[in-house]
Amino acid sequence: MKAFAATELYFNEAADHLQLPQWLRVLLLAPKREVQVQVPLEMDDGSIQTFVGYRVQHDNSRGPMKGGLRYHPSVDLDEVRALASLMTWKTAVVDLPYGGAKGGIAVDPKKLSRKELERLTRSFVDQIHDIIGPDTDIPAPDMGTGFAEMAWIRNQWEKYHGFNPAVITGKPVEEYGAKGREEATGRGVGIMATKLLKRIGRKPENCRVAIQGFGNVGSHAAKYLHESAFVVIAVSDVSGAYYNPEGLNIPDMLRHSLNNRGSLEGYQGAQKLPADDLLLLDCDLLVPAALGGVITEENVSKIKAKLIIEGANGPIWPEADKVLNDRRIMVLPDILANAGGVTVSYFEWVQNRQHYRWSLDRVRQELDHTLSEAFEQVWQESIKSQVSLRTAAFMLAIRRVHRATELAGFANS
Ligand code: NAD
Repeated sequence: MKAFAATELYFNEAADHLQLPQWLRVLLLAPKREVQVQVPLEMDDGSIQTFVGYRVQHDNSRGPMKGGLRYHPSVDLDEVRALASLMTWKTAVVDLPYGGAKGGIAVDPKKLSRKELERLTRSFVDQIHDIIGPDTDIPAPDMGTGFAEMAWIRNQWEKYHGFNPAVITGKPVEEYGAKGREEATGRGVGIMATKLLKRIGRKPENCRVAIQGFGNVGSHAAKYLHESAFVVIAVSDVSGAYYNPEGLNIPDMLRHSLNNRGSLEGYQGAQKLPADDLLLLDCDLLVPAALGGVITEENVSKIKAKLIIEGANGPIWPEADKVLNDRRIMVLPDILANAGGVTVSYFEWVQNRQHYRWSLDRVRQELDHTLSEAFEQVWQESIKSQVSLRTAAFMLAIRRVHRATELAGFANS
C-alpha cells in the first residue's frame, strides 16, 4: 500500500462513522493543488545536477496552508500528498486556524556540501515563491531540513516579496524564530504520554519506554519523558539500538549525540542491538519517532508494547493498525501525538505577525494548554463514539474541515 492510500483508509473509516456522502469525501480528500518543479543545482565542482521538488496544498478551508519541507531520497508525489493531507487533519484536530500542505525535494542532503544545500534551497524557492506566503501557505522544517534551510528560504522569498518573516516557521531564534520550536514536537509527544497515562491510571515510574529515532522528535521526547520519571529503556537511530532494562542515562546520550554530529554511533553506556530490534522489545510504551511505515503486517504480531504513541508521521500501516486494535494495544495517532511542532510553528507565525516575542515559559504553557485540550476532546470522542483514538481524531478533524467548507460554500472554498 502507498502512503496516500493509507491516509485515505483512515479518513474513510472516520467518514463512515460520520456518514459522509461520497461526493463530500472526494471534495475533502483531493488536494487543492499539486506542484512539481525541476530544481537545478550547480555543484561545487561546476557540474549541474537536477532534482525534483514538490509542494502539495491540500486544503485551506480553515486558514492558510501549513506543512513542512522534507529533504530525503524517498520523497515523491504520493508521499508528499499523504503528508499534506495529514497536515489538514492535524491542524484541525488541535484547532489551529490553518489548512494543510507539504513539500520536499528528492535528495539526500548528507551527500551535499553546505554551500550546495544553500544553492539547492534557494533554487527551490525560485520555483515556488509565488505559491507560498504568510497568508497562503507557510512551510516549516521536516526530515532533513532545519533552522538553516528555513533562514535561506525566508531570505530568498523576501528578495521577491519584501520583508515578512511569517512566510516560514522553524527559523533560528535570532532570525524571528520562536523559543521552544525545536523541542516542541518531542515535548508534545511527552505531554501526550503523560495525559495518556493519567487517563488509564498508571504512573510514569512504572512505564518502560522504547523510542525509535533520536533526531529532533525522538531526542526531545526522550528528554521530556526521562525528566518526567518515565523509564526510557531503549532508544535507536540509524547506527543501532541502545538498551538498558534498568533505564538509560538520557542526559549522557544527549551529550554524546550533540558531540557526535547528531549520532549515537560509538555510545558505550548501554547494550547495543540491531536498530530494528527496538520495535519488538518488551516495554510498556513504544514511540516510533523516525520513519513512516515501520510497523507492518509482518512485524506487528511481535510487538510487545501495550501503548504506542506515533511521534513520526504514518509509522503504522493500516493492516498493522487493525491488528493492534484487535489486540487492544492503544495507539495515539500522529495527527494528535506529533502536533506539538505545528502548534509552536503557529505561535511563531503569530509572534511574527505581531512583532512581539513570547518567553519560553509562555510558549510551553500555551503548548501544554493546546495539546491537553485536543487530547481530551479526542479521548471523549473515542468514548462517545466507541472508536479507536485514531478514528476519533479523524472524526473531530473531518467535522471541523467539513463545517468550514460548508460555511464557505462547497463550490467556493
Ligand atoms: P530527524 O531527521 O531529526 O531524525 C530522524 C531520526 O531517525 C534520526 O535519529 C535517524 O538516525 C533515525 N533513523 C533513521 N532511520 C532509522 C532506522 N531505520 N532505525 C532507527 N532510527 C532511524 O527527523 P525528525 O524531525 O525527528 O522527524 C522524525 C519523524 O517525525 C518524521 O516522520 C517526521 O515527519 C515526524 N515529525 C517531525 C516533526 C518535527 O517538528 N521535526 C513534526 C511532526 C512530525
